[in-house]
Amino acid sequence: MGKKTIVVAGGGYAGINFVHALQKINTNHRIILIDKNAFHFKKVKLFKGIVSEDISDLHVPFAAYCKKNAEFVQGRITAVHPEEKIIEFEKKEGVIRSLSYDTLVLAMGSVIEDINPEQGGVALTNLERAIVIRQELLEMLDSPKKMLRIAIAGGGITGIETAAEAGAWLKHEGEKRGFEPGKMEIVLIHKKERLVSEAPAKISERLEGRLKKHGIKVIYQKTAERFIDHSLYFSDQSHLEADYCIWTVGLKPHPCLRGFGLPLTDEGKVRVDPWYRVADYEALYAIGDCVHAVDARKNHAAPMSCKEAISQAQRLAKILTGDDDVLPSVPHQHSPELLCIGLGPGDGLVWARKWGMDFAVSGKVAEKIREYTWDLASINQ
Ligand SMILES: Cc1cc2nc3c(=O)[nH]c(=O)nc-3n(C[C@H](O)[C@H](O)[C@H](O)COP(=O)(O)OP(=O)(O)OC[C@H]3O[C@@H](n4cnc5c(N)ncnc54)[C@H](O)[C@@H]3O)c2cc1C
Repeated sequence: MGKKTIVVAGGGYAGINFVHALQKINTNHRIILIDKNAFHFKKVKLFKGIVSEDISDLHVPFAAYCKKNAEFVQGRITAVHPEEKIIEFEKKEGVIRSLSYDTLVLAMGSVIEDINPEQGGVALTNLERAIVIRQELLEMLDSPKKMLRIAIAGGGITGIETAAEAGAWLKHEGEKRGFEPGKMEIVLIHKKERLVSEAPAKISERLEGRLKKHGIKVIYQKTAERFIDHSLYFSDQSHLEADYCIWTVGLKPHPCLRGFGLPLTDEGKVRVDPWYRVADYEALYAIGDCVHAVDARKNHAAPMSCKEAISQAQRLAKILTGDDDVLPSVPHQHSPELLCIGLGPGDGLVWARKWGMDFAVSGKVAEKIREYTWDLASINQ
């Protein structure tokens, strides 16, 4: 009997780590990784497009992950036919091809929420937008102003890191242009009571303290709605004066999943059982941001995060290389409680909970850990 083919649909953190885990196990399967792009994109470093001209290290060609028993096919998946075990993909505009599989793993992730153009400001949704933000901010620094006020609407990890990294970069660029440091204000708007609410309150306070040290103010319990005429308006009708607004409002499951006829949650995530099997289909699995996986011990749905995508990828590789008929008893569990946040050059915050105890570091050591985890997530590429 020939080798069985595992097709991995999507080469984000879940997809590449799944391929890597299979390669480590030394499975005898033929692995085909398919993605619409020719490269893995280090999404978590999107802010780099704002703070640096050199963004070459954000893209890793898929060839780097496909050396051992894995092949890469570039194409945008347009249909999934689980009954025939076939996927269809657009090879180039208007050219549709199909690919057969024995096992299909969907890892098509998420996209960043955009805003309506009428809401004003710029949403940090992709690299092109990051570059636009960079250019517009530089233009503002170049035009003489009494004060430069920047609002960042959305206080998740992306908002926190963007505020810290952009703040440090603006300070540096401003100094070069003789802009007085005290004439720059960066305000992060968060709709909850505290930052990183998944961590203990003392970690939120520590994080706020570090942001403050970098000149970033946090406003809590405000939902930004629109940015018009130098004002950011909130849902409670109050407003904040600002010269520029960057939206960092979160992630949503990839919209293409809605066209595949698979069982989805209202949010658009694929429903899977604790072994990442898509309900009612044979040999069809899904992992990463695109799935609704529930940890039965806590009745808690998996968050959209890198560590969660990687831990699911590694667990699924074990599941699929175990006994073909009987699934091993390693159902979905939450990834460890861990937060790694970059706070600009020379600073960061890392928190982990283990054995019921909290461990936290900040400063240079945390920045190093943060860089290490970024590299690890992209398999040191
Ligand atoms: C700016 C930003 C900062 C973040 N910071 C952190 C952080 O600090 N810590 C953390 O844990 N998480 C962070 N996240 C979340 C983290 O990036 C995601 O949880 C992670 O990317 C999920 O990995 P994934 O492989 O499931 O999906 P994705 O990374 O979204 O990858 C999906 C892949 O599928 C491909 N694809 C999609 N549709 C198709 C199609 N139709 N055909 C072919 N290919 C397709 C895409 O090209 C992509 O390569 C951040 C996210 C963003 C956007």
